[in-house]
Amino acid sequence: MARYIGSVCRLCRREGEKLFLKGERCYKSDKCAVEKRAYAPGMHGQSRKKVSEYGLQLREKQKAKRIYGVLETQFHNYFVKANAQKGIAGDNLLKLLEQRLDNVVYRAGFGRSRTEARQVVRHNLIQVNGKKVNIPSYQVKPGDVVSIKEGALSMQRFKDIFDTTSGRVIPEWLLSDPENGKITVQAVPTREQIDIPVNETLIVELYSK
Ligand code: SF4
Repeated sequence: MARYIGSVCRLCRREGEKLFLKGERCYKSDKCAVEKRAYAPGMHGQSRKKVSEYGLQLREKQKAKRIYGVLETQFHNYFVKANAQKGIAGDNLLKLLEQRLDNVVYRAGFGRSRTEARQVVRHNLIQVNGKKVNIPSYQVKPGDVVSIKEGALSMQRFKDIFDTTSGRVIPEWLLSDPENGKITVQAVPTREQIDIPVNETLIVELYSK
């Protein structure tokens, strides 16, 4: 599947916000491109433009796609699913994205960024309820136990990851146990527990046109 391989900091600068795509580097002001150059990339990046309603809606969608590392078709499929569920479509959309396996691995501190968490999953290092799962988009549900496969917990890779993520705040819907390489999914996240800078209502409006 085609995937964006350019500079991820450029994506943050395009949105004019920190999207936390690079892991711990994002928390250091002197290393973060958005903090150093707070304008869009490119020749006209510093010129101010009036943004239309459609433009605002589009930007929110792009932001959410970039944060979760999801491509257009897949993102639209998430919306269709969210819209068909009971409740508020925007909330449902974010909850589906949060429950992706790569996001859970990232949120629990088993990856420094969602990109690294996705690699960890793809490299066959993760199990769900004792069975290997190497699909980053796999949807977890309450009661699932996500774990590092036997023998892999002692890898230097995980030592480095846990050294970096040890101070991270883990959302309450997940129980993270890095010492034993385990994450328990305790509940479906609430909207309040999803701390991403996205106005999902604008995304719903965009797709509802
Ligand atoms: Fe975005 Fe992180 Fe790069 Fe800052 S360091 S621009 S938050 S990816």
